[in-house]
Amino acid sequence: MTAMDAARRALKEVFGYDSFRPGQEEAVAAILRGRDVLAVMPTGAGKSLCYQIPALVLPGITLVVSPLISLMRDQVSALLQNGVRAAYLNSTLTPRQHALALDHARRGAYRIIYVAPERLMTDAFLSFARGADIAQVVVDEAHCVSQWGQDFRPGYLQIEPFIAGLPRRPRVSAFTATATQAVRRDIARLLKLENPYPVLTGFDRPNLFFEVRRPHDRDAELLRFLGEHRGQSGIVYCGTRKGVEQVTALLRAHGVKAAGYHAGMEDGLREQAQEDFVSDRVPVIVATNAFGMGIDKSNVSFVVHYNMPKDLESYYQEAGRAGRDGEDAVCCLLYQPGDVRLNAFLIDHTQDESQMDAQTQRVVAERARERLKQMTFYATGGGCLRTRLLTYFGEQADQPCCGHCSACLAREQERDVTREAGQIVSLVMALGGRYGRGLLTRMLCGKKDERIRERGLDKLSGFGCLKSEGEENVRLMIDELIADDVLAVTEGDYPLLRAGEHAREVLRGDVPVRMTLLQKDAAPIAKQRMARETSMDRALFSRLSALRKGIAQEQRVPPFIIFTNATLRDMAERKPRTRAAMLRVAGVGEGKMARYGDAFLREIARYEEGGSH
Ligand code: ADP
Ligand code: MG
Repeated sequence: MTAMDAARRALKEVFGYDSFRPGQEEAVAAILRGRDVLAVMPTGAGKSLCYQIPALVLPGITLVVSPLISLMRDQVSALLQNGVRAAYLNSTLTPRQHALALDHARRGAYRIIYVAPERLMTDAFLSFARGADIAQVVVDEAHCVSQWGQDFRPGYLQIEPFIAGLPRRPRVSAFTATATQAVRRDIARLLKLENPYPVLTGFDRPNLFFEVRRPHDRDAELLRFLGEHRGQSGIVYCGTRKGVEQVTALLRAHGVKAAGYHAGMEDGLREQAQEDFVSDRVPVIVATNAFGMGIDKSNVSFVVHYNMPKDLESYYQEAGRAGRDGEDAVCCLLYQPGDVRLNAFLIDHTQDESQMDAQTQRVVAERARERLKQMTFYATGGGCLRTRLLTYFGEQADQPCCGHCSACLAREQERDVTREAGQIVSLVMALGGRYGRGLLTRMLCGKKDERIRERGLDKLSGFGCLKSEGEENVRLMIDELIADDVLAVTEGDYPLLRAGEHAREVLRGDVPVRMTLLQKDAAPIAKQRMARETSMDRALFSRLSALRKGIAQEQRVPPFIIFTNATLRDMAERKPRTRAAMLRVAGVGEGKMARYGDAFLREIARYEEGGSH
């Protein structure tokens, strides 16, 4: 078996995933070949797996330098859940615990050790490291080494001397989501990466819907937004601490369970707020930009910016905390012109602590003003928001309009769809009322998934007839036809589609049908690339998620550490009956199968016996 075969096997057996995401395979392969790696991949792309899989395949120990305690704790507990022996070393351990962990490490108890940068050069750690077989050193959040980045951590400067002091130089890989050239160059230089293999994956996050709203009354707009997203978990970023306090109070007064978070709060309260949010006890956190870097919460469904940030770097980093589990999520910016004035004021009046000379200061302020201009242009300039973001980060967008942001949706057009409506109705009739909206959409778009192929539905004559419309438009058309009683849906947990009262007229083409749809040039690149389960069983999903919550509480870990929403969705879609089938669910590896597989199988069986459809 080659090392890559072993890697693919670990992907499936340990982590429960069928395929690598963009960039992962390249990074894993390069590390296994012994190369240094510099990977720039956006938040949520799945950087951890890039080094965790090599850690399992390579003989020896993997050291991961990571900036934040909460981040290490979550990563290690996620690994333990998957049956991977891992530990962390940071200031939360007592000296005794620390010594004990190092003892275990010496005896080869761990494959992966997370370590705070400040620990590296301590005597105890150095003596361990010099005697150990260290296969790779990983620098996570590597931009922390650069003073150009926003999150400079002096401790990161100790990484390079640490590596240089090892008897044998291990492969070194650095991971970050920060894209700018200056930071990238700094990382390679300061860590002394040796001819690093570059991994650069796209910055597009297809599952994020970008939105700008320009309300007169921000509070009312925020409440409206939260009303549209009830029951979901999300972050509201405010520009100031005072803003955090006011908005938190506003939300509570309107019955929204919300926690406030900013750097001026007492440590205990701040940690509690974070804890409550991460463990899903409180759905909404209102925060300044102090919140986020250590947060690995994957099921964040929305990020609202109550104020416009100072630049697109900040905006995309914060907004990017939504939807890390790959589920649909919304990033909404509430813009008011006052935001520009406030940010401009801050640029001109920020006292500089780094003792730059006057000339440098002028240049830095000039750059900051330019960035603010670009940010403002995003909020007010019109045009596709995704294209603007990608272009800003130096990437070519595939198409001028993504079809999945508020600007694209605004470019709608009314047109005649009599013929298309007829095609939809006739396909619904051919399907004989046995299927739901999701399957119909996929059939009209010509998607051959397993279920469609198995039942030979791709042989029906209407299969793929609306392919050129794109999924978003097809979905809009079906919804309109339902609203007009041309199609009807059955009641119940799993609604099925059949012909409605006015189906015949449409089928005969007796009445012209007009609808407001996306322009065709707004073919939704985003949506097309999204593997989205529309035929999931929602009732089952909520039972599985209740089971997950119970287990998470027992074990005192956040629910997404047990299974992510994406995994539960897949489970609710596939409804596995056997262990083998359970292992096919994305995100169920052998470790989690052994721990939770049976409990979830039982719940699914119980649900199916309950005969709820
Ligand atoms: P990053 O550090 O790049 O922000 P993470 O490593 O935290 O991202 O991964 C984000 C989420 O994506 C996690 O829930 C992880 O389990 C999931 N994930 C990673 N790789 C894959 C994959 N190949 N298939 C499916 N999900 C994946
Ligand atoms: Mg990460």
